Amino acid sequence: MKCAFIGLGANLGPSLETLRQAATQLAAHPLIDAFELSALYRSKPVDAQGPDYVNAVARLGTRLEPPALLALLQETEQQYGRQRPYRNAPRTLDLDLLLYEGAQLDTHSLTIPHPRMHLRAFVLQPLHDLAPELVLEQGSLAALLKACDHQEIERLP
Ligand code: AMP
Repeated sequence: MKCAFIGLGANLGPSLETLRQAATQLAAHPLIDAFELSALYRSKPVDAQGPDYVNAVARLGTRLEPPALLALLQETEQQYGRQRPYRNAPRTLDLDLLLYEGAQLDTHSLTIPHPRMHLRAFVLQPLHDLAPELVLEQGSLAALLKACDHQEIERLP
């Protein structure tokens, strides 16, 4: 069983409900164990237009290898009507594989750790909620969060 962290985001349609439903669905998947969801956050789109995002991070245990886990995440995005009309377009559901225990990958379809996670407060803050001790190759979560403290995020009640 390997530990993985995934990022969840949505900014089209009923984002809050979509995020909660997708999390519940992943938690119930037979090949996923010990699913834990962070608090939910609202954030402004980074490098993009459109409505605010709802974001969260989940920690889970799984026997799925990274490509199979990514395939499950993409299948789940599709179920929630994800379309990709252009880069960084608003999305009903975005699921990113952030970290996977022991994995460092850089293939055409999968990069782990996720290449932009260390620059995004909406990933770092919920990740810090779940695993404050975590250190990424670019630094501690606390230090990385400080470097993006100009990015507004709001913790949802
Ligand atoms: P997006 O449109 O932002 O959801 O990006 C999805 C694309 O990024 C897909 O083509 C994936 O194969 C690729 N990708 C590469 N690394 C990752 C990762 N760690 N998590 C999710 N998607 C990834």
